[in-house]
Amino acid sequence: MRLVLLGPPGAGKGTQAQRLVAKWGVVQLSTGDMLRAAVAAGSPLGLKAKEIMDRGELVPDQLVIELIDARLDGADAVNGFILDGFPRTVAQAEALEALLEAKGMRLDAVIELVVDEAQLLKRVENRIRETLQAGGSVRADDNPETLKTRLEAYRKQTAPVSAHYAGKGTLKQLDGMAAIEKVAGAIDAALAS
Ligand code: AMP
Repeated sequence: MRLVLLGPPGAGKGTQAQRLVAKWGVVQLSTGDMLRAAVAAGSPLGLKAKEIMDRGELVPDQLVIELIDARLDGADAVNGFILDGFPRTVAQAEALEALLEAKGMRLDAVIELVVDEAQLLKRVENRIRETLQAGGSVRADDNPETLKTRLEAYRKQTAPVSAHYAGKGTLKQLDGMAAIEKVAGAIDAALAS
């Protein structure tokens, strides 16, 4: 199973990806997680990415394309992968196509979790407040201001990616505002069809 999960920050991609990992025995490839690991490790890549991520903007395409290239045919991806947070620009989608072709692979599906942006913003803001009130910690870019920038980056740079896949006839759009189990059921149905 090789899958792309599209959707803005807070749409529930990570939650759904984790469930699919358990169900299909595939690996979740999240460029956000990889970049955060690089930042935590203080690697040259992390140093380059940190400020951009803290602002809520996208890091240069080449950085994430290299990260993904190294993982698509990794030992943990023998059963496939779920791309979560990649591709985020049309250039990344095109690079992914070239990488897959070179590796003799193809995508089984591209699923977009469609959300209402105003409701999403409230949902994420509530989640951040609750986490902080409970004494937990949130990501550096999980604050209302940065979230707005991240949503704007999604609208400007990532929405065209869904149009790109729609044009190829591979896109399946699902209601990402539904309850987690409902979204999960809709994903399973879309993958079975
Ligand atoms: P995420 O965890 O997917 O929300 O990603 C967190 C941050 O990492 C984003 O706001 C971007 O700064 C950066 N990032 C993650 N994936 C990508 C990508 N595919 N292209 C560019 N920047 C990315």
